[in-house]
Amino acid sequence: MDSSGQLLWAASDRMMRKVFLWASENSWTRRRLPRLGFVRRAVSRFMPGEDLEAALTATVELNRAGLGTVLTLLGENVTAAGDTVAVVDHYLAVIEAIHTRALDAEVSVKLTHLGLDLDAALAEANLVRIVTRAAERGQDVAVDMEGSAYTQRTLDLYRRVRTAHGNVGLCLQAYLRRTGADLESLAPLRPMIRLVKGAYAEPPAIAFVSKAEVDAEFRSLAQRLMRIATSPEGLPAGSIGRPRVVLGTHDRRLIGELTTWASAEGIPPAAYEFHLLYGIGRDEQRRLRAAGHRVRVLISYGAAWFPWYMRRLAERPANVWFVVRSLFAR
Ligand SMILES: Cc1cc2nc3c(=O)[nH]c(=O)nc-3n(C[C@H](O)[C@H](O)[C@H](O)COP(=O)(O)OP(=O)(O)OC[C@H]3O[C@@H](n4cnc5c(N)ncnc54)[C@H](O)[C@@H]3O)c2cc1C
Repeated sequence: MDSSGQLLWAASDRMMRKVFLWASENSWTRRRLPRLGFVRRAVSRFMPGEDLEAALTATVELNRAGLGTVLTLLGENVTAAGDTVAVVDHYLAVIEAIHTRALDAEVSVKLTHLGLDLDAALAEANLVRIVTRAAERGQDVAVDMEGSAYTQRTLDLYRRVRTAHGNVGLCLQAYLRRTGADLESLAPLRPMIRLVKGAYAEPPAIAFVSKAEVDAEFRSLAQRLMRIATSPEGLPAGSIGRPRVVLGTHDRRLIGELTTWASAEGIPPAAYEFHLLYGIGRDEQRRLRAAGHRVRVLISYGAAWFPWYMRRLAERPANVWFVVRSLFAR
């Protein structure tokens, strides 16, 4: 393709990304599109099923291949405090199921699913219940990072919970300009950090936009995280807990660069892990495992999959061909 063709392609990709992210938040599309059979068929590429049992069955299969999982119930922005009771109960049941079936799995939660839009104290109490049960069962819990309207509140709440509970981790987004500073301020807590590029529509004033900039930021933040995790003498006084470095990406180039860098720095594969999404980069998941890396596959499940699915399409507009193909599938 010549350079004008490439420019056109990049522009149409950016436009599609905007459309999908708009659709993820629009109430009409959120209500109507999930009812369409071909959309439901297309989503199955990224989701083993809507119920927990499907996620647990997929976990058994992945565990057999040496891959752990992270389980997350789809849903966000709950509007009634009572609705969070069922969400917490669900996660407590997942933690029990992981324990009784001896699965290699853990859970990841969204604070707006636990009531952050309504009351930060409610979301915090809900998170503490989940984290406490997980600690009793020897499991960690991760907190997802949502759109930038929630970044500060998520960090504040996380910091409070992390100070009292060693088994809770947080996702940070490399595309946010603030993340380098957030990472430094969290370092004394020695937290589990899952670094991702970021999946929401954010303005250039607060976020890097071009892939090159986001990738460069991801690379440097990942290196900083690995250094923090492996050089305890460099940590500020008062550091607590054990750090976990999770690189949440499917980007083969970045994965290759970071593993090469880590090995040149003498950082062992055991010092960091890779988490990838169910249905994306399946070969890469197995290749990383075969190369001796620790790998988890994040499985999302539940009926409220539409906004999450739109974000998956926005990440790779070419995925829309799976939707088109499922139009004709029977
Ligand atoms: C374990 C995990 C947890 C996450 N948690 C959060 C979170 O809490 N908050 C948040 O904002 N974001 C989260 N994300 C999403 C993340 O921010 C990115 O949007 C997503 O991972 C795509 O970025 P990438 O690093 O794979 O790189 P990209 O540069 O987007 O993609 C690199 C390559 O990966 C493949 N790929 C990427 N996405 C797709 C896709 N949807 N379909 C098919 N192939 C694809 C393609 O081959 C692409 O060329 C999470 C991602 C992972 C893996």
